[in-house]
Amino acid sequence: MHIVRVALDLPLSTLFDYSLAADSEAVVGQRVLVPFGRKQLIGIIMEAVDSSELADERIKPVSRVLDDVEPLPAELLRLLRFCSDYYHYPLGMTVLSALPARLRSDEPVSRKVPQIYGLTETGLALDLATLPQRQKVQLRILNALQQGVMDIAQLRALSASAPAALRSLVEAGWVELAIQTAPAHRFATQHTLTDEQQTAVDAVTQNMGYGCFLLHGITGSGKTEVYVHLMHHALQQNKQVLLLVPEINLTPQLENYFRSRFPDAELISLHSGLGDGERTQNWLRAQNGQARIILGTRLSVFTPLPELGLILVDEEHDSSYKQQDGLRYSARDVAIFRAHQRGIPIVLGSATPALESYYNAQSGRYRLLRLNQRAVAQATLPSLRLINTNQVLMQEGLSPQLLTALEQRLQRGEQSLLFINRRGYAPVLMCTACGWLSTCPHCSGKLVLHLPDRRLRCHHCGLQQRVPSDCPSCGNPDLQPVGIGTQRVEAMLNERFPQSRILRVDRDSTRNKGSWSAMRQQIADDKIDILVGTQMLAKGHDFPKLTLVGVLNPDNALYSSDFRASEKLFAQLAQVAGRAGRAEKPGEVLIQTAFPDHPLFHALREHDYVSWAETLLAERRLAGFPPFCFQVMLRAEGPHADGVFTFLQQARKAGTALTHEVELYGVVPAALPRRANHTRAQLLIQADSRATLQPFLRAWRPLLEALPAPKLRWSLDIDPLEF
Ligand code: ADP
Ligand code: ZN
Ligand code: ZN
Repeated sequence: MHIVRVALDLPLSTLFDYSLAADSEAVVGQRVLVPFGRKQLIGIIMEAVDSSELADERIKPVSRVLDDVEPLPAELLRLLRFCSDYYHYPLGMTVLSALPARLRSDEPVSRKVPQIYGLTETGLALDLATLPQRQKVQLRILNALQQGVMDIAQLRALSASAPAALRSLVEAGWVELAIQTAPAHRFATQHTLTDEQQTAVDAVTQNMGYGCFLLHGITGSGKTEVYVHLMHHALQQNKQVLLLVPEINLTPQLENYFRSRFPDAELISLHSGLGDGERTQNWLRAQNGQARIILGTRLSVFTPLPELGLILVDEEHDSSYKQQDGLRYSARDVAIFRAHQRGIPIVLGSATPALESYYNAQSGRYRLLRLNQRAVAQATLPSLRLINTNQVLMQEGLSPQLLTALEQRLQRGEQSLLFINRRGYAPVLMCTACGWLSTCPHCSGKLVLHLPDRRLRCHHCGLQQRVPSDCPSCGNPDLQPVGIGTQRVEAMLNERFPQSRILRVDRDSTRNKGSWSAMRQQIADDKIDILVGTQMLAKGHDFPKLTLVGVLNPDNALYSSDFRASEKLFAQLAQVAGRAGRAEKPGEVLIQTAFPDHPLFHALREHDYVSWAETLLAERRLAGFPPFCFQVMLRAEGPHADGVFTFLQQARKAGTALTHEVELYGVVPAALPRRANHTRAQLLIQADSRATLQPFLRAWRPLLEALPAPKLRWSLDIDPLEF
């Protein structure tokens, strides 16, 4: 019998055996429809074997082979197997989650991509006269293809039975799907590279085989230009390029920018903002090699790319590369593995690399490439001033110094940006009489006051309430907003500077599709004087008129219990500060803080990532935190606190009994201990090396799966970023 082992989207770590008709042409990587219980499921053939451990009569036949899409290449299947092993996530769910939704259904895939066919080398060498003359259609096709490649529509025009004939010709090895083979020659040059840029480009292009490069360049140093030159180099060698970008950066502008730089190379984007149809079509174009530049967010790291020759990861420190549910992968780390597997270079770019990456560059695992100068000659780094909030009278969160600085910019017709990492009007509403606070009844968080629609909202579970007219606890009508959010700053500015054009950018104001790109257009068209917003504004945008950045309240992160909080804060502030003075006019950054002596601010003022990174590394080494150890988080949540804690205690006991080489910490409540009426808790595991951690996890996971876990959801998070 002909047996195939199929990956299915089920929470089980096995493959499933099915039989195939002897004459079936199904191959590894192909999609199939198979019976499972009373359902029919889509799966991927992972292996073809001669025999099964199951008794013959228990093996059901494959219902249908879906051959409207090329099989997934073996290389991608290997990558997915690695991810399943490394992240301890069921193989079937890993494989299926890598596909666009359309390919997870048996709906036929209509191809909008022209399928282009051409002769293989053996096909070219054929002497048609020696072939059996009765295969008329095949001969006609071979004959036609000798003149050059043709798409399927042209071939159909030769004969209605062309598709069947083609299949035989492909099978015979004479015809193949041809990819666009002309190298993308045209390349819009914009700048002569600086010496630093050139050195970086040379280091990567002269590299043979796998190499991981950390491109550490200050904001405005022209990392993008380095990417462009590297892409050009790869395209000329007829390679595909994968450019990963953080979620927020995926803007039509970015796409258009790279299109304009490479007018001949087909570019597609892949991100969650695309409709399913478009995403599938783009994916197929990447898979058949037609798309040469793939610009995508984390999920695009799993795109089949037959000619992949270069991977670029922009803003490699960005936490959006880490998926926080399901397969909890880090797209950056998977990309590195992929480059290694394929033997190609990968470049990680950032002004503030993740400490892990910086450490790897220092220890020689990655090669460090530095850009220390801003690329535009006149542009200097912004000057940074700290405002001690203990010493001034603040008005709605703004210091007099910041207000004065804003006024100056308005007079000079320059742009300002106020950065505050809280959306809403105020983080909580309080009763002045009894101290009642607006808390969420279902979570351990507060209800945030949103003034435009007069609502209290929970940012964790989505609960919404009308703002009460008086205190629900004592009836006092005097309820006061406490703390500052983006809406409150916007309201204050509107009152204070009624003539100026103020724009608020946060998740609320950009909820509607297209609103963010409309806003960016307004900014680009110089229609905005003051921008108020969250981290959405910090990343990657080039605002040439911007000369002032105000940071309103960075202090929470300074003394947070999350050991990564200050690393993230530095990156965020460096990035937001980097928005100022990117063109000719010098920029200024004002930071309001109650801790102006904190070493983080000192390093930020000196634009000294390196000394800051060294400080953090020394702390981490002392505390035994990553990158000096490897971590895993076991999380659990459920409706009953008892069940959650018992499960984790038992998990801990089982783990402790397994080994002494890894450290299992105590079971503790999660950072948000209750969400949507579920109790959440966690258990941290730490080891000196992956080599001890991974075997432990392999032994431990089956024990976890065997533990009673009524109504519980639990997950393993490898290399967790959130605590
Ligand atoms: P980064 O991504 O490092 O923050 P960008 O790539 O956005 O920096 O470049 C900053 C600015 O410098 C852009 O306006 C870009 O056009 C310009 N630029 C880049 N390289 C050069 C160069 N070699 N000569 C002149 N200008 C450059
Ligand atoms: Zn009250
Ligand atoms: Zn809630």
